[in-house]
Amino acid sequence: MRAAYALLLLPLLLSGCSREEEAVRDIFAMDTYMYLKAYGDHADTALGTAAERILSLEELFSVTSENSDTWAINHAGGEPVQVSQDTMTLLQTAKEIGTKTDGALDVTLYPVLSAWGFTTDTQQIPTPETLAAALELVDFREITLEGDCVQLPDGMQLDFGALAKGYTSDCVTGILRENGVESALVNLGGNVHAIGSKPDGTAWRVGVQDPFSPSEQVCILEIEDTAVITSGNYERYFTGEDGQNYWHILDAKDGFPADNGLVSVTIVGEEGLLCDALSTALFVLGTEGAMDYWRTEGGFEMILVTEDAKLYYTEGLADTIRLTGTMPAEVLTHDKAD
Ligand code: ADP
Ligand code: MG
Repeated sequence: MRAAYALLLLPLLLSGCSREEEAVRDIFAMDTYMYLKAYGDHADTALGTAAERILSLEELFSVTSENSDTWAINHAGGEPVQVSQDTMTLLQTAKEIGTKTDGALDVTLYPVLSAWGFTTDTQQIPTPETLAAALELVDFREITLEGDCVQLPDGMQLDFGALAKGYTSDCVTGILRENGVESALVNLGGNVHAIGSKPDGTAWRVGVQDPFSPSEQVCILEIEDTAVITSGNYERYFTGEDGQNYWHILDAKDGFPADNGLVSVTIVGEEGLLCDALSTALFVLGTEGAMDYWRTEGGFEMILVTEDAKLYYTEGLADTIRLTGTMPAEVLTHDKAD
């Protein structure tokens, strides 16, 4: 009898111990609504520092602000430019993943993004001539990195839209940890990064949106100390005069929105920067390309949703994923089945 009483008390005691101070921040930066939530004695101060860092990274990476590293690189007329360590880190990853994916990730696509109007409020289908001229200016292999300097041939332009938020989530989680936060969830517009578990000790639950019905979720992931980053064709797109949808993730091979069988790619891993770079790159590589890349390179988990409404997830997620929709799902193993 007494043992049963003690058992009843135990959850109450545990929840009593775990009642930690919660702090939250809403920030609009990098064209994205961001929501940060952290627990513990230092949570509020830590979030304040993290918010300042987000705003300074926004200023550093912005393609339109004349004070940014990006602007300096894009307007140097081919001369070398000294940049911050943050920018150098992005460029190194951009070059590495660009090389490994044979240009599926290409940070020099900015002239083509401009031709489509994805850099402004009005979009249009570019003429073949405009597109061809813009594509002439695209090739990430032309970026030279030396020490803390970057050199880009005159006329070429880069942008960090594909990786900036992933890197930012690494910086934010780093700052929170340094400030003693052991439980937090950082949501940078669908790019989610968790620290530890929830204050009650259970895992954070992060939903993956259904690209066909974005208010619903195809699955829920239970994560701790992990980044979950999605790229999809349903987030930023416009409908052209021809009635077709055109989205903001482009294929440098032809300058058109990447259309290789996928509607979303979610990358799950430790480092936000790598996950973000891969989410964009694997979206461009397409269904088969993404599966091959995962099998060859590994080091991350992923969830693919295809245009014919199938879901694939890598075997490492088996204990983490709970399917919530009706979409047929298949597990990807390291050995190719066929
Ligand atoms: P989001 O920023 O919507 O979360 P992504 O991480 O996939 O999505 O980044 C998309 C952004 O990356 C685009 O808005 C554009 O700035 C840039 N971009 C588009 N296509 C490519 C590409 N193939 N390689 C590198 N950057 C790209
Ligand atoms: Mg990305």
